[in-house]
Amino acid sequence: AQEPFVLDRGPLVRARLVRIAEQDHVLLLSMHHIISDGWSLGVFLKELDTLYEGFRREKPAALPELPIQYADFAIWQREWLQGAVVEDHIRYWREQLAGAPTVLEIPTDRPRPPVRRYQGEMQGFVLPAELTQRLKQLARQEGATLFMLLLAAFQVLLARYAGQWDVVVGTPVANRNRAELENLIGFFVNTLLIRTRFEDDPPFLEALRRVKDTTLGAYAHQDLPFEKLVEELQPNRDLSRNPLFQVMFLFQNAPTGGGAQEAASPGAPSAPSVHAGTAKFDLTMALAEGENELTGSIEYDADLYSAERMSAMISHWRHLLEAIVAHPERQVSRLGLLTEGERHRVLVTWNSTRAAYDRQQCLHELFEQQAARTPDRPALECRGQVLTYRELNERANCLAHELRARGVGPEVRVALSMPRGAHLVVAVFAVLKAGGAYVPLDPAYPQRRSEYVIADARVSTVLTEQDVAQALSAGSRQRHNVPGSVDPENLAYVIYTSGSTGDPKGVAITHRSAMAFVSWAGRFFPRDALSCVLASTSLCFDLSVFELFAPLSTGGRVVLVDDALSLAESAARKAEVSAITLINTVPSALETLLEMEAIPDSVRVVNLAGEAFQRGLVDQVFANTQVRQVFNLYGPTEDTTYSTAGQQGRDGAAVDIGRPISNTQVYLLDANMEPVPIGLPGELYLAGEGLARGYLNRPELTAASFVPNPFSQTPGARMYHTGDMARYGPSGRLHFLGRRDQQIKLRGFRIEIGELEAVLARHPEVREAAVALCTDNFGQPYLAAFVAGRNAQASELRAFVRERLPEYMTPSIVVEMDSLPRTATGKLDRAALALYDRTGSVGEPSEMPRTSTERRVAELWSELLSVPAVGIHQDFFSLGGHSLLATRMVSRLRNIFRIDISLRSVFEQPTIAGLAREVERHIDSAAQEPIRPAASPPLDIDHLTEGEIDAMLEELAREGLA
Ligand code: AMP
Ligand code: MG
Repeated sequence: AQEPFVLDRGPLVRARLVRIAEQDHVLLLSMHHIISDGWSLGVFLKELDTLYEGFRREKPAALPELPIQYADFAIWQREWLQGAVVEDHIRYWREQLAGAPTVLEIPTDRPRPPVRRYQGEMQGFVLPAELTQRLKQLARQEGATLFMLLLAAFQVLLARYAGQWDVVVGTPVANRNRAELENLIGFFVNTLLIRTRFEDDPPFLEALRRVKDTTLGAYAHQDLPFEKLVEELQPNRDLSRNPLFQVMFLFQNAPTGGGAQEAASPGAPSAPSVHAGTAKFDLTMALAEGENELTGSIEYDADLYSAERMSAMISHWRHLLEAIVAHPERQVSRLGLLTEGERHRVLVTWNSTRAAYDRQQCLHELFEQQAARTPDRPALECRGQVLTYRELNERANCLAHELRARGVGPEVRVALSMPRGAHLVVAVFAVLKAGGAYVPLDPAYPQRRSEYVIADARVSTVLTEQDVAQALSAGSRQRHNVPGSVDPENLAYVIYTSGSTGDPKGVAITHRSAMAFVSWAGRFFPRDALSCVLASTSLCFDLSVFELFAPLSTGGRVVLVDDALSLAESAARKAEVSAITLINTVPSALETLLEMEAIPDSVRVVNLAGEAFQRGLVDQVFANTQVRQVFNLYGPTEDTTYSTAGQQGRDGAAVDIGRPISNTQVYLLDANMEPVPIGLPGELYLAGEGLARGYLNRPELTAASFVPNPFSQTPGARMYHTGDMARYGPSGRLHFLGRRDQQIKLRGFRIEIGELEAVLARHPEVREAAVALCTDNFGQPYLAAFVAGRNAQASELRAFVRERLPEYMTPSIVVEMDSLPRTATGKLDRAALALYDRTGSVGEPSEMPRTSTERRVAELWSELLSVPAVGIHQDFFSLGGHSLLATRMVSRLRNIFRIDISLRSVFEQPTIAGLAREVERHIDSAAQEPIRPAASPPLDIDHLTEGEIDAMLEELAREGLA
């Protein structure tokens, strides 16, 4: 059956007779669909039967003369297609399908191949007699056919699976509505498109009425061949999908010869059904009426769907039909798909994460206990300075006593505004010990931003580095722990995160939540992994909570650096980072580290957190480093850093976010707050001990996002609506599917597009503003702002934004427009904005390169930034450059000029002129002193860059060894 036919040569029918026994044969017959259809098969078998009987009884076989042949029909159809009647048909279908989605997105188990391969599998099922009876009865009662009822139900199933409430499926009609056609063999069958809209969530009975009307209308216009319709509608053609519809529905009420399972008379041929191993569509649901029950099958594209998902679908289908006969008046979104068992599994079994931890304790007390156990162990290392547990604890105590004297206590917020360093960690513990809550500020943020946070959080004190230094030198010198004065229910910290209305919001986390989280981390990660942890995340982001408290509660050491890229600095590489066992960072930073080959050999565990990433990244880690375990950690700030965790295997399986961590529950819900079936996308809600108290001083916002938890037995229990979408894998591991709003992650930073738009709109010259996440020539994302206004200048707007938002939130480019693009319905066309191509968006270079070095750097920039020409004083980062591009540039510069230029120099000299100077300085000094061979780590010849190899060869040559 899988052997192809050659359409222009024929024959398009093949037969082979296989002898099984003396009197027993199998006739294998395959016909191309272009010369036959299901009905034809019935005709064929009937004729075969007649002839066979005739030969068997040695009587002359007589088949009736045919009044017309297929060719006559073909000529008739071709003439008819020119006529006026057909115009009426075309008009009908155009109206019927206006605005209909051309893609039905049923979640797949595997990525859709760019070109369909038509590999198919099939699963059969039987709907029991009792259910069948009730379905028939309901159809009769509603004046509909069983076909209409089943089709309506199937469309509801598809709508629920796709989360798409406008559903088009194909269904065949025999198209033999004249007696002369009945005995012909040929391709008559036509496909009708049945579109049903459920956007208003109608009761099922109403949906059934709609399907009935649509079906009757479709029958009245069934003569228009499907291929003619495609020609007329000209949908976007896409080799990965069938045009206009991808799901087929078949129903056979009076079994014809083609589907007959049993022989008519003993000795006559029978037709066992054989699956050809192909699938013409994504899914084909086929149902046939048997004696009492309905038999059915789902044929599916095996490139897209797994057998498990299809069995689950069959079970949901059956359950849905049962719900329909029981409650046909229910709204279609409220008809249950889940069985009791499945419901229990997702709500209870997979959420049973209870684990004990000390509920009386506070975050800093874990550290104090550890300090008492291992006072002389190194606790914190920063720029060569090492503090033991005792030293760190005593310093924090000194400051804590001072803070107490200044009135810091439970619920009092203390802002921390100081550079990253030992003082900052001392300050964190001091605030906690004094009973207060810390509010991190980034000294690099614009002043307005910090002022906003200070005012919004109503902080009592802003601690600076000087304050800490003073307290430590003069101060009370009280080194003992501050006696307990704070309750686990009190605030521990407030972290501000982007707010869609234009102002950031403070997430208020109690000791209890942080304790639950840190205790989990201590159990989840191997002790030796926590023994030396890289702390590279700003305290303004919650990854820092893991990086500081997990090691310091378990006797490990924290290596505090400015950011993850510090690992790539050759100076740092040597000493303090060479003991690091665990790196916890965002995937985009890890990508850069891999590219720079900057992951120390001592690293055993890599935590990828905060944003989605591809499987390839995991493979790269395993291939290029000594890392043994890679974890994916998912969670919003509102649920204390991490909510789910999953180890990523070496088996190449798709990335997942694992399962809920201890004392945490995940719910995947639909719009009615009902759990979605396994495998289907649902909105992700979180519950458990990690939940924030809420947004500081924002009761309405808190109430909107932290809603009552209907699945909990505990009175007053809440759950957090994340805005993320996810689905369950068969064993309960969670797969992240993106967001359903305008919140994005850009290189790990959480950004509400709405906040950026609101800030732009505050500029007096801006009439309207929109921001989109666009993609550059390397596939790297960047922010682009589009503004329309009287006299809104791009440079002026960039400055305006920079004064108000952190660097990571400022758009790479600002595009001035007369007006923003709108869709047909007048809504902002975000899809169009996201397709913006910044090639050519940079104006004339203000200054041309002067030297050959500048020229070479300028060429490199044009290529990396995909802009035609760049002025030598323009800023790399304002042209859209970012850390990953900077990394690329540095490796290219190293290769082109054979120098050991550092990544940091791009950040310090982000112009062509500045970099060219830097390059020339390196060339000069390289000419003076011989290049030292890299001493450690041991050279791995496979991973040397070209530049490194060249440098080594040069060196060997100089010593006369090459
Ligand atoms: P934040 O509060 O900065 O941690 O941001 C939380 C949001 O980041 C989540 O709601 C997700 O949209 C996204 N996110 C966090 N961790 C992951 C992850 N491991 N995979 C995919 N997305 C993630
Ligand atoms: Mg997070």
